[in-house]
Amino acid sequence: MNKTLNLTPELYQYLLDNSLREHPVLTELRQFTATQRAANMQISPDQGQFMIWLLQLMGAKKTLDIGVFTGYSSLVAALAMPEDGKVVACDRNPDCTKIAREYWQKAGVAHKIELRLADALDTLDKLIANGEAGTFDFSFIDADKRNYINYFEKSLTLLRTGGVIAIDNVLWSGRVADPDDDDKRTPVIHEFNEALHHDKRVDLSLLAIADGLTLARKL
Ligand code: CA
Repeated sequence: MNKTLNLTPELYQYLLDNSLREHPVLTELRQFTATQRAANMQISPDQGQFMIWLLQLMGAKKTLDIGVFTGYSSLVAALAMPEDGKVVACDRNPDCTKIAREYWQKAGVAHKIELRLADALDTLDKLIANGEAGTFDFSFIDADKRNYINYFEKSLTLLRTGGVIAIDNVLWSGRVADPDDDDKRTPVIHEFNEALHHDKRVDLSLLAIADGLTLARKL
């Protein structure tokens, strides 16, 4: 069976050297975030570029970013969308999102990003209660793993038919394939992956990009 390449550091560098077209403010934000605590919570630049490509292919204008951290993925979505595009960015951390806001402004796209500083589940419930079900094109889930299944369900409600949910970290540094792994989140992510595999409401692709990215399209 043909399988995905094992990316050595040299090959990954080659991939970046020969394909990356990163917006200068994204580069700056990525370099700044690398100096911060929990820097590995930021998505990789090739993944960001793939998401821009996907959003533009879809003609996305209204997206959700669940788990903002220092704002890289929200910025990716804002840069990918036209002037009247909107990202609803969900996070409850005022410190990280303060950094995020600075870079959104610097890139000139802050007007496209609506930050909701609250529990993301509450924000999603409010959007549903506000009659916004079926109106979003895209949702990026990259927050606490325990709630992945809840973020997925609410995103599915908020998405239009043909909309896409992208879920990050689904391969969890490879730990999902180790039944003896001692991280409590590992079985949670594994169960989430299993549930999605059999979910007839979406079609599915699990990409071995960065830490694993599942794309689910609402049928
Ligand atoms: Ca992540």
